[in-house]
Amino acid sequence: MAQTLTDKVNTRKTFAIISHPDAGKTTITEQLLLFGGAIRQAGTVKGKKSGKFAKSDWMKIEQQRGISVTSSVMQVDYDGLQINILDTPGHEDFSEDTYRTLMAVDSAVMVIDSGKGIEPQTKKLFKVCRMRGIPIFTFINKLDRDGREPMDLIAELEEVLEIDAYPMNWPMGMGKNFLGIYDIYNNRVELTHPEQNGDNDFLPLDEDGAIIGDYPITESTIYTQAMEDVLLLNEAGNPFDEEAIANGELTPVFFGSALTGFGVQTFLDAYIDFAPSPAAKKTEEGELIPTSKEDLTGFIFKIQANMNPAHRDRIAFMRICSGEFEPGVDVTIQRTGKKLKLSHTTQFMADSRESVKSAVAGDIIGLYDTGNLQIGDTLYEGKNKVQFEALPQFTPELFMKVTPKNVMKQKSFYKGIQQLVQEGAIQLYKTYHTEEFILGAVGQLQFEVFQFRLLNEYNSEVDMTPMGSKIARWIEEEDLDVNMSSSRNLLCKDRFDNPVFLFENQFAMRWFEDKYPEVKLKSLL
Ligand code: GDP
Repeated sequence: MAQTLTDKVNTRKTFAIISHPDAGKTTITEQLLLFGGAIRQAGTVKGKKSGKFAKSDWMKIEQQRGISVTSSVMQVDYDGLQINILDTPGHEDFSEDTYRTLMAVDSAVMVIDSGKGIEPQTKKLFKVCRMRGIPIFTFINKLDRDGREPMDLIAELEEVLEIDAYPMNWPMGMGKNFLGIYDIYNNRVELTHPEQNGDNDFLPLDEDGAIIGDYPITESTIYTQAMEDVLLLNEAGNPFDEEAIANGELTPVFFGSALTGFGVQTFLDAYIDFAPSPAAKKTEEGELIPTSKEDLTGFIFKIQANMNPAHRDRIAFMRICSGEFEPGVDVTIQRTGKKLKLSHTTQFMADSRESVKSAVAGDIIGLYDTGNLQIGDTLYEGKNKVQFEALPQFTPELFMKVTPKNVMKQKSFYKGIQQLVQEGAIQLYKTYHTEEFILGAVGQLQFEVFQFRLLNEYNSEVDMTPMGSKIARWIEEEDLDVNMSSSRNLLCKDRFDNPVFLFENQFAMRWFEDKYPEVKLKSLL
């Protein structure tokens, strides 16, 4: 029997994987891809050094620096489900990209290094997940190394992130003595060394939580300690609450070691039991349920140029929110009213692409774009207008003057800037009268990537003059008097020609507010 739209949507699980750099996000992603048979061999970060890169880390600059700069999208078929994994850059200078990616998913997986606990970047990203109220699953990684006490980690997670935690399993030892996990959810023990216990990967537990049968591990104090910890958790910990998980108020916690592949599949199996399928999305016209509308709708959360030097093109990433995509479908771009035929589309396996035959809510498709689309655009099929809620925009904090080195090459400079700005890689301002170019970013690394890409992709060499950190505040056009500008509050316009002041510091801003109490200063997020 043919699958209905509802059947299809229910098989989708779309999540973003977030972490502080080096916690093991890439390694886990590779493991997940392996389970789905998506790639034959998981490249390890060791491979990075020998010139072999992880599938999700494909941009040249990422390879040089060994960090993920942009989010990529991967698909895995697993247990009759289609799992869409959105990788995010761990480095905080690229958090804008991550925040927007979080708007396109239905749940998030947070990876924590057991040796480090909650790191600043995790905290920041986590806040956005909380804002969105999406379920968050926690994987505490690197148990094959000596790390911090699991009880401490759980306490820190709850305290720092202000979320309740429920351990789905509990580590039995760590480092050299990592014997496995005491799997509360599946009522079994999972062993790192099956060969030492009658070649069993798993041993079932009895009603009292003890391993059924006699094995070398039952003599181990590490195992009895884990059992005691779990008893304590049972008594003093949070109760399991599916609704609280769905609302993002309780995070199920898993332990494992991505590098050795231990605990990752156990995590995945539990994840699919609780992760939501595509949920309703907010629009200006009310909530839109993924299957309530046969017409295709979606929004653009990311634009990327020249992902693969062999293709030299620009791809807009669209999250489908309702209906079913089929090649050749006609849609309208809400912002401009322009009509588009979506015939040239792609699905992702990081650096390899396949054309899309069918896609439903939860799926991410790539649209080859010639400059019609912008981040945040809503696309809809049919006559009924749809506008999804706006994506968060961030107030840049760092600024840089930029000029082309070679005046003969102004054309490629303008083209490059325009495209990279539309991609959302960086923000562009101009001084109000003299129209000098100023770039705004959240993190320093964004400038470096900009400069690198301008040179590599547009053959344009630039001079960059740092202006340091500033406070950007927008004002209404009608409030503007050009005499308000001074050396400590530079008047600029953004790329939509809205007036914006770049204040030297808080003091300069307060001075301005006192002087012009009737002018309202606005910031982005
Ligand atoms: P990302 O920056 O979060 O994507 O982290 P990676 O997946 O690139 O991993 C960072 C480093 O930690 C690499 O050297 C990995 O080999 C290592 N790593 C990842 N997972 C584990 C693990 O479970 N155990 C150990 N010992 N190392 C790990």
